[in-house]
Amino acid sequence: MLYRKFPKIPELELSALGLGCMRLPVKDGDAAAIDEAAVEKMFVAALESGITYVDTAWPYHREQSEPVVGRTLERLGARGKVNLASKSPVWLVKEEGDWDRYLDAQLAKLKTDHLDFYLLHALDAGRWNNLRKLGGLEFLQRARRDGRIRHAGFSFHDSHETFTNIIDGYDAWEFCQVQYNYMDDDYQAGSKGIAYAAARGIGVIVMEPLRGGALARVPDPVLEIFGSWKTPRRPAEWALRHVLDRQEVVTVLSGMGKVEEIAENAAIASAARPNSLLAAEREVIARARDFFKEKQKVPCTTCAYCKPCPNGVSIPEVFAQWNNASMYGDRKGASSWYQGQYVKAGSGADQCTKCGECLEKCPQHIEIPDRLEEAHAYLTAAS
Ligand code: SF4
Ligand code: SF4
Repeated sequence: MLYRKFPKIPELELSALGLGCMRLPVKDGDAAAIDEAAVEKMFVAALESGITYVDTAWPYHREQSEPVVGRTLERLGARGKVNLASKSPVWLVKEEGDWDRYLDAQLAKLKTDHLDFYLLHALDAGRWNNLRKLGGLEFLQRARRDGRIRHAGFSFHDSHETFTNIIDGYDAWEFCQVQYNYMDDDYQAGSKGIAYAAARGIGVIVMEPLRGGALARVPDPVLEIFGSWKTPRRPAEWALRHVLDRQEVVTVLSGMGKVEEIAENAAIASAARPNSLLAAEREVIARARDFFKEKQKVPCTTCAYCKPCPNGVSIPEVFAQWNNASMYGDRKGASSWYQGQYVKAGSGADQCTKCGECLEKCPQHIEIPDRLEEAHAYLTAAS
């Protein structure tokens, strides 16, 4: 295993591969029924492979991930061997005292008196505004001072602009966690965001290196592209190597559900040094990216310049789901996400009144209202 350092925490080295606990093995397909015996085997394999970072969060596995992680570390006597990370469920915080109530409940679930890394979970522009009104940043200072948390950061899902606002909005961030993979160079925080954070001394933890598994199960034409390289490599290896090539990345989290996956990914993380990809290897990855991008439905870069829409349409998010459905061949998954996250919340494409206000703001000159109508038809037809 290779180990990397956070710029602001030079005394600490973390394994380049971290164990994400949001896709643990379960019984009978029930997300809350975690198979603890299987999890214990995974943790043993992770520790043996040199993994020193374990990441969980309040909502994972319908709130069962944290207690399982706590019990497993206790049974193995391994709490002191890992850096334990969890996340504050900021969307559940309604008043200032809630911050402490959730953290104290998490410490009890995780059977520990402190978290090595604590994140404000899944920040976007709305949550960022709310949490500041509710004293979220003062809470982080307080929890750090009294020793309940060692290092404070945030995880993120929104536009690049919001990312830089959050980075600049609090001097004491030590790390951030962003979605990043070879398809998301320009999505959310993106490559620019990773560089922006690192330039300010903020360490970067990467999640979704395989884009929810889509980059591990690539179609035949992409397999052929990867097969053109002189050494055989699995698609997941190409994806992980792309992320680990970035010197700003301290740890990449993978939601591994099997012992074999831990062994395979640990072997990759033991060999992938920063800035080690050859130009020809980057070219192979670029060709795979081009294949997927050609399948996009709409050339939306998710820059979010079109926002806010006066009717609350989540324009880039809707286009992202439409593109995902087409690029990764998962229309059912994208449709279900679109309807659950956006239509139900009143921010789907069906709220567009075709007022035209967004049109001149789009640098890609997308006919937004017409394309939204198509996206909605596509993403609702399968249900
Ligand atoms: S055209 Fe539709 S999406 Fe664009 S601003 Fe108007 S309502 Fe919003
Ligand atoms: S529709 Fe245009 S302005 Fe809106 S996010 Fe996409 S590319 Fe940017």
